[in-house]
Order: sequence, then structure tokens, then C-alpha cells
Amino acid sequence: MSRLTLKQALELWQEQDLFNLGKMAHKKRFELHPEPVVSYIVDRNINYTNICVSGCKFCAFYAPPNSKKGYVLSFDELAKKVEETVSLGGYQILLQGGMNPDLDLDFYKNMLLFLKKRFPSVWIHGFSPPEISFLAQKENISIKEVLLHLKEAGLDSIPGGGAEILVDRVRKKVSPRKCDASTWLKVMEDAHSLGFKTTATMMFGHVETFEERLEHLQRIRELQDKTGGFTAFIPWTFQPKNTLIDVPEVSSVEYLRFLALSRLFLDNVPNIQASWVTQGPKVGQMALFWGANDFGSTMIEENVVKATGVCFRLPEEKLREIIAGAGFVPKKRSMDYTLLE
Ligand code: SF4
Repeated sequence: MSRLTLKQALELWQEQDLFNLGKMAHKKRFELHPEPVVSYIVDRNINYTNICVSGCKFCAFYAPPNSKKGYVLSFDELAKKVEETVSLGGYQILLQGGMNPDLDLDFYKNMLLFLKKRFPSVWIHGFSPPEISFLAQKENISIKEVLLHLKEAGLDSIPGGGAEILVDRVRKKVSPRKCDASTWLKVMEDAHSLGFKTTATMMFGHVETFEERLEHLQRIRELQDKTGGFTAFIPWTFQPKNTLIDVPEVSSVEYLRFLALSRLFLDNVPNIQASWVTQGPKVGQMALFWGANDFGSTMIEENVVKATGVCFRLPEEKLREIIAGAGFVPKKRSMDYTLLE
């Protein structure tokens, strides 16, 4: 199949039902990954701070500055969490926080240096584009300079958080103080140029139109054509509970249909991740037939989705059982999708 245009993607969405879209995406998945393997990673999300000046309307996790609920983890607390991760066979930590105005570049560098010295073999996947662009603004230096400092201090790769929908009309409505779509893409482009691998994400099902979802996919595909630095695309659905956006939750059928369309449209992004954290293990398992070839992370700890009242947890053994139960071979992987077994 040749590359889908935006018009063709819209037609597929309007004309094909759940099962047809799934069939097409599954075929594409096997063209890209001929082995019936589903990968996953053992890692832990560590939210080093929840203090944030962004105040995104979809976020149930953050605390504003001076709030009693605000925290910054001490390095000892961080070390304890990483130790637990290592003892559970963890490969990486996903380090993310809010846009905390009290933390400067030295804090980030010292945190990375501390972690790398203490746990040299643990991969640090950290700091989404909004955190990085916020830091560049605060320090009055370029995004590239921030990235270079973080790289030198031990940052290994960058998660694609904070993308939500890469269209400024939407961002102005749901997260007006967060970086705009072009800045998000600029952080990723600079990161790729420095040799970082990153992921791309999408949170859909809030105030965006369907055309804006497609625009998001288009912008990811264009940047990937240029840099090739995205390892995976990870779409998930907005969880409305405990947030300021009052919309019904996107159905699992719509999630699966859009996942399939993403697999078909993003022909240059090698991996598509199922989101069992928002969809639950059963729909996560179905996602493996709708274009996903990766089951994400064991999520030894996760706080952001949990704050919306959605809390699915899977120990590694259970996660392997779910993958095997769908007829695939579960295999542990690294951040860049190298299989570790
Ligand atoms: S989503 Fe991130 S940037 Fe937005 S309020 Fe929550 S912690 Fe802050």
C-alpha cells in the first residue's frame, strides 16, 4: 500500500468499520514486524516533582506552587525508587515532572549525575518537551543547549509526553501555558540531531476535531521523514475523571479504530504501543490485533493516569501471560526496541 494522504485517512475512517481497519493495520504490522513477537519494557515512572505552573485542564496530577500537596523528591527518595526498580529486573526509569519554577538546570544536571553514578546501568528516559522548553526559557538559553547539558549529565533518551494534540487551537484550550506545537516538534528535532532517540505520543478524545487528530499524525510523520528519531508512537485516550474537561470518555472501539489508523498512516514509525494503562488489559490485548506490536511498560509505578481514578496494574508475569494468551511471544526490550531475550 502506498503512503496514505490525509484525505485517504479520513475516507478510511469514515468508510471502514472496526474489523476492516483492524485487518488492514494487522497486515501492516506484520509487514513491518514479520515475527509474532510482542515486546515490552520493565520500567518505573518516577515523577520527581508534581509542582507545575502549567495548570493543564486535563491534568489531575499537578499541584500549583505553594500548594500543600506539592513535592520534590529528595535524591535519597529517588535512589530508593531506582533500587526497587533494579531489584524487580527494571531496565529503565521514566523521569518526568511538572514545570516547576523553583528547579533550575543545575538541579536537573545534579539529579542525572547522581543517578548515573549510583546506577550506571539504568537507562534514563526523561523530561518531555514542555519540561525542556520551560527550562530553556527559565535559563534563557537555547533548547539545544539544555539538551546538551542533560546529555552530558547522563540523560539517555526522551519521552514524547506533553504532545497531547499538536495543533495550537487545541493546545490554547487545554494547556495554554505549555509549549506550542512547533516548540514540541523543535525539541524533538534538536534531540534527534544530538543523537537522542525519542517516542511520540498523542492524547485524544477531548476538545480536538478528527481533522486535528490527523494533523497531529501528519506532523509526526513529517518530522520522522526528516530525522528518523522516533522509535514508537503511543496514542492513548483522555481520562476525564478529576479534570476540568467535561466530556464523555472515548470508547474502546474508537480507541482501537484510531490505533489501527495510526499504524496505517505512520508508515515510517517502526513501533506502535498499546495503552493498557488507560484501556485495561483486555482491550490492551485486542490492540495487538489492531496494529500494536508493543505492550508498553510494566509500570512498576505510575501516578499521572492514576490521579484520574484509572488504575490498572500488571506485574511482569501477568503482562507476559496476556501477550502469550493472544498468541504472541512476549519479549523484553530496551528503550530503542532492541530485544533483550
Ligand atoms: S500535564 Fe504536565 S504540564 Fe500539564 S499541569 Fe500536568 S504536570 Fe503540568
